[in-house]
Amino acid sequence: NERVVLQFQITLYGDDERLVMARDITRLHRLEEMRRDFVANVSHELRTPLTVLAGYLETYADAADRLPPRLAQGLTRMQEQTTRMQNLVNDLLLLSRLEIDQGGEDHLPLAVPALLEEVRQDAEALSAGRQQVRVEIEEERQLLGSDPEIHSALSNLASNAVRYTPEGSHVVLRWKPHPKGACLEVEDNGEGIDPVHIPRLTERFYRVDKGRSSESGGTGLGLAIVKHVLLRHDAYLEIESPPGNGALFRCVFPDTRLVAAETSLDAASE
Ligand code: ADP
Repeated sequence: NERVVLQFQITLYGDDERLVMARDITRLHRLEEMRRDFVANVSHELRTPLTVLAGYLETYADAADRLPPRLAQGLTRMQEQTTRMQNLVNDLLLLSRLEIDQGGEDHLPLAVPALLEEVRQDAEALSAGRQQVRVEIEEERQLLGSDPEIHSALSNLASNAVRYTPEGSHVVLRWKPHPKGACLEVEDNGEGIDPVHIPRLTERFYRVDKGRSSESGGTGLGLAIVKHVLLRHDAYLEIESPPGNGALFRCVFPDTRLVAAETSLDAASE
């Protein structure tokens, strides 16, 4: 009993005429599923060998002071590249999970200020004093969501803000009301992004400046992860970059995703 997937396109003509077109996309859908499963399986299989490799490299690094400088330097490079591969594999796995699961079942009221404070501390550690990172809270309601997912979306946005702005820049993490509900914003006053790139930024591995991005330690999957996390929370991402005025990433959550501040976990699960 093979599932058939149909895509409908409805065009309205005047008040009472409609053109309905149905397209059979079963094959396309199946191919997309196969691609997702393949990526998930490969990433999963790569995890163990990478962990073994990282383990050996760490053991050798303990004895690096007894190695000739050229070898010690090579060892450091190998460790860096192994970490990069591990990050990439972890991000690929996370993205596959976000795409495969429907999500939504484990959503609880989240205290956003505490979450933003955690993200702020991590971003500050990454920045190592090069940027100022601060939190602004203008919204009292809590967000119904998955803590690890929202955390990971915000971490990606905050680490981008730190990695793509010059020394002395400011980064603001904000929770505030929005006409549709409320929004989480990550704003920086760095060089910003040329508007031609904005529509494609959430595609996997899309980068404005390839050399600079891979140097900066990203995996190219950060904004794709953000997009999928938001989709699972009925939310969406807006990106603004007024010329010469930094970049603003706004995650907009609808009213249905907000609960009064005093909502306890018990009340939410009733
Ligand atoms: P990466 O691992 O390359 O950072 P992302 O998906 O997180 O991947 O980001 C995609 C691209 O968007 C980056 O390569 C960078 O060019 C651009 N970008 C993201 N955030 C910012 C920002 N705050 N300022 C300027 N450019 C940014």
